[in-house]
This record gives sequence, C-alpha cells and structure tokens, in this order.
Amino acid sequence: MEKKRRIAVIGAGPAGYTAAKELLQAGFAVDLFDKEKEIGGAVYTGIPDFRMPKTFLQKEYDTLKELGAGLYLSEPVDREKFTELQKEHDGILCAIGAQVENTFGFETGSGLEAGLTLLYDLNILHKAEAYGGYRKALVWGGGNVAMDCARSLIRLVPEVTVVYRRSEKEMPASAKEINDAKKEGVQFAFLTNIREIVRDEAGRVKAAQVIRMRLGEPDESGRASFHEIPGSEEIMPADLIIMAIGQKVDFTPLAEDLSIAAGHETNISHVWTAGDAWTGPKTIGAAVQDGRAAAKEIIAAFEKEDESHA
Ligand SMILES: Cc1cc2nc3c(=O)[nH]c(=O)nc-3n(C[C@H](O)[C@H](O)[C@H](O)COP(=O)(O)OP(=O)(O)OC[C@H]3O[C@@H](n4cnc5c(N)ncnc54)[C@H](O)[C@@H]3O)c2cc1C
Repeated sequence: MEKKRRIAVIGAGPAGYTAAKELLQAGFAVDLFDKEKEIGGAVYTGIPDFRMPKTFLQKEYDTLKELGAGLYLSEPVDREKFTELQKEHDGILCAIGAQVENTFGFETGSGLEAGLTLLYDLNILHKAEAYGGYRKALVWGGGNVAMDCARSLIRLVPEVTVVYRRSEKEMPASAKEINDAKKEGVQFAFLTNIREIVRDEAGRVKAAQVIRMRLGEPDESGRASFHEIPGSEEIMPADLIIMAIGQKVDFTPLAEDLSIAAGHETNISHVWTAGDAWTGPKTIGAAVQDGRAAAKEIIAAFEKEDESHA
C-alpha cells in the first residue's frame, strides 16, 4: 500500500470492532466511533449480564488500544459529523447495527415499551425501579430479544407471559433461552398474536386484545406460516406490554440517502457497511464474520486503487 489510509468505523459492536482490528493489522489507521461509553454494541446494551459475562469485551478493547486504534466513545455520529469524517478519512465503515425497533405504529409510553428500550433502561441506565411497580407483563415476540426481556422482567414483575404467534417449535430464540425462561417462571402463550393495546381513561395500558392463530404451509422463511382464527379474539389483562417484534436498519442519522449497493459498498463512494446494518438482525458470530469480510473488501478496494495509480 502506498500511503497509510485512514478509515473511520462508526459503531463499536462486534462487526465494527472486528473490522477495525482487521484494518489495523493490515496497516490502516482506524478511528472507531460509538455513541455508547463502552464497546460491544447490542452485546453491551442489550444482552443482560446474568446471561452473558462481558469480560471478552474488555479484551477486545485492550487489543484495539494495543493496535493503535483511535477510540472515540460516547461520540454519536450525526450527519454533520459524518460529512466531517468523509473529509478527514479515506473511507468510512458504517457498522451501526439494526437498532430501530418495529412498533407496528403503536405509540409507546404509559405501559407500552420497545424491548431494546427496556433492556437499555435495565442494563445501561439501571432503572429497574421504573418497572418494579408493574404486576402483569406481556412480552410480544419470540426471538432472543423477547427472551432477554422476559427473563429480565421476571426478576422484577410477578407475572410475565411471552405472546408468540407461532408454536414453540418455530421460535427463533435458542432452546436454552426458552427453557431457562420457563424455569424462571415465565409463561408462554403460543399461537397467539396481539392486535390492539387496550388503555384506561388515563391512557395507561390495561390489557391486550389478542387473537388465536393456526399454522399453515411453510412460508418464504421456511417456517410454518401463521393465520388468524376468525372469532377467537380475547382480552389478556396486563399493565406492561413489551414489543420485541423485530428490528430494522436506519442509515438516515448518518446521511439522507445512504443505502447498500454492491457487496459491502454503499451508494456513497468510499463508504461501506457491515454486520447487522448490512444483513439485518443476526448473531454475534455472523457480525464478527461480516466485519472481517467487509474489512477485507475495503483493503482490496484500496489495493486496486493503488494498482491503477501505479
Ligand atoms: C437483546 C439482544 C439479545 C441478543 N442475543 C444474542 C445471542 O444470544 N446470541 C447471538 O449470537 N446474538 C444475539 N443478539 C444479536 C447480536 O447481539 C447482534 O447480531 C450483534 O451485536 C450485531 O453486531 P453489530 O456490530 O452489527 O451491531 P451492534 O451490536 O448493534 O452494534 C452497533 C453499534 O453502533 C453504534 N451506533 C449506532 N448508531 C451510531 C451513531 N450514529 N453514532 C455512533 N455509534 C452508533 C451503537 O451504539 C452500537 O454500539 C442479540 C441482540 C439483542 C439486541
């Protein structure tokens, strides 16, 4: 490589810190930015300590330091900063995760909350007291986020029920998580979906209107499709409902029209993406692998540029 290239990596989750290490080892200068005060991404903000010890994150941090990374924590990147980074760096890798939760248009507040918000409140802001007064919680969803929400809440709320539209067999959460939740007293309402949030006159959640479901032929995900059973609506009382029904990627905080193009490249020259931001919500292992793959793509792109200038 002709000169030391400088890359800004936005997002210090598994994809971002892995890509940063790979780039540093290949001789690039790397500045790693994250809005949180520690590295780890969803592992740090989402996964509760009782489930996964985070000591490995300290090791990752130490390695980044040893390799000479510029570490900019508690530094959110907005559009203005993004433009600045474009001027100061030869390339940018956006590894911002898929941290925007689906809410299906429901307005949060007064007993209705998004799963990632609940986990952030408990893991990072240590606001357990904000949830301790609830008596009956429903957690809507069947993935790892839903399990972490249910298992965190059963430590605070007397009754917690997971509401999932398919059967246990189709749940995306790991079998271990489901069994641990059961052992801890979490209940499950399978083949059930929430249709409406019922609130009292003051706007506080008092129940969910649910409908029973039946399974059908496999859909494009390979899992059994699900269908409402007409006339099976009922009311499930609850004073807290947590929505853990999927997350999506949002690049708009960084740039108005940033989108994925070919490979890890985006439509903006010298801007790449990796991890959940590229694949949609996946796993830690997948994010690590993808961070490495994106870094290799960046290295190859600059090698190609160097060759064409030689
Ligand atoms: C509650 C929960 C439980 C999970 N359980 C498991 C599990 O058991 N096993 C498993 O393998 N996977 C699990 N996952 C999934 C796994 O954590 C993710 O797939 C993985 O963390 C994705 O890594 P990433 O680096 O792509 O994104 P993330 O980990 O989401 O990291 C993105 C980073 O970007 C930062 N960021 C975003 N926007 C900006 C900005 N504008 N400026 C600066 N920084 C920004 C964020 O603060 C974050 O640190 C779970 C996820 C959650 C949320």
